[in-house]
Amino acid sequence: MPRLAYVNGAYVPHDKGAVHIEDRGFQFADGVYEVITVEQGRLVDEEGHLTRLARSLAELEMDWPMTARSLRIVMRELIRRNRVRDGIVYLQITRGSAPRDFAYPAGVTPTIVMTARRMNLHPPERTERGVSVITIPDIRWKRRDIKSVALLPQAMGKQKARTAGAFEAWQVDDDGFITEGCSSNAWIVTKDGVLVTRPASNLILNGITRQSLLRIAGELGLSYEERPFTTEEAYEAKEAFISSATTYAMPVTQINDRVVGNGRPGDLVTRLRAAYRSYATGVPRHAA
Ligand code: PMP
Repeated sequence: MPRLAYVNGAYVPHDKGAVHIEDRGFQFADGVYEVITVEQGRLVDEEGHLTRLARSLAELEMDWPMTARSLRIVMRELIRRNRVRDGIVYLQITRGSAPRDFAYPAGVTPTIVMTARRMNLHPPERTERGVSVITIPDIRWKRRDIKSVALLPQAMGKQKARTAGAFEAWQVDDDGFITEGCSSNAWIVTKDGVLVTRPASNLILNGITRQSLLRIAGELGLSYEERPFTTEEAYEAKEAFISSATTYAMPVTQINDRVVGNGRPGDLVTRLRAAYRSYATGVPRHAA
């Protein structure tokens, strides 16, 4: 079965999908994207992702290439045609293609590309053992709240992580506080059992998984604080974890050369991961 992509109104073989050389996504990274997880055929946190997409587009004064309603239909059709039960849908919208000029061109049609692929969402070597992260300076721009395709600093960071044998790189601001991972939000659990994650601002991407986890934490009666934390505080934490559409809540058991807590996934992240998965799949949680 050939893999299919959706490009500007047509379902095309994945390896034939193409956009113009003067597309502003290619020329200026003038585009936004979303990644939505599919688990058991369901689009996880679809509303949240489409709400953030609307916000990213509005911040950049970019038009929708189609109505949100049509977009939902295409996502489902792409999942169906690619037979994805567990995996992701990737969607990218750019301002469109126009003669190269920095300022926004008038009257261009936005470009839309969507792909879908299968993915193992629960690799036991990560969920059961936890992952390691390194810390790196945050060298990005100041509109990290926009989910833009300008991801070069994150690509550089992930490469550093890979070279170090780590799963993710936590970016650290000039005052020593962790902003977020290269493709995830950062969390710790203090010795007193309080969940801590940085508040939403222009300095981080407000993860949809982050928002859902905060809501679930509230429902479970867990105490949490939205405040910045330093690398040193993370070293001393009882637990650490990351969150994103594809990782849900993923335990972090090592930060640089320091073991977190007892070196095994903590109780809180394990509970949160299970609760988020129940929410994602629509399977009710059993009373603990
Ligand atoms: N921060 C950054 C920089 C990211 O790239 C991502 C994932 N795209 C996240 C946080 C997590 O966001 P979400 O939970 O919406 O996947």
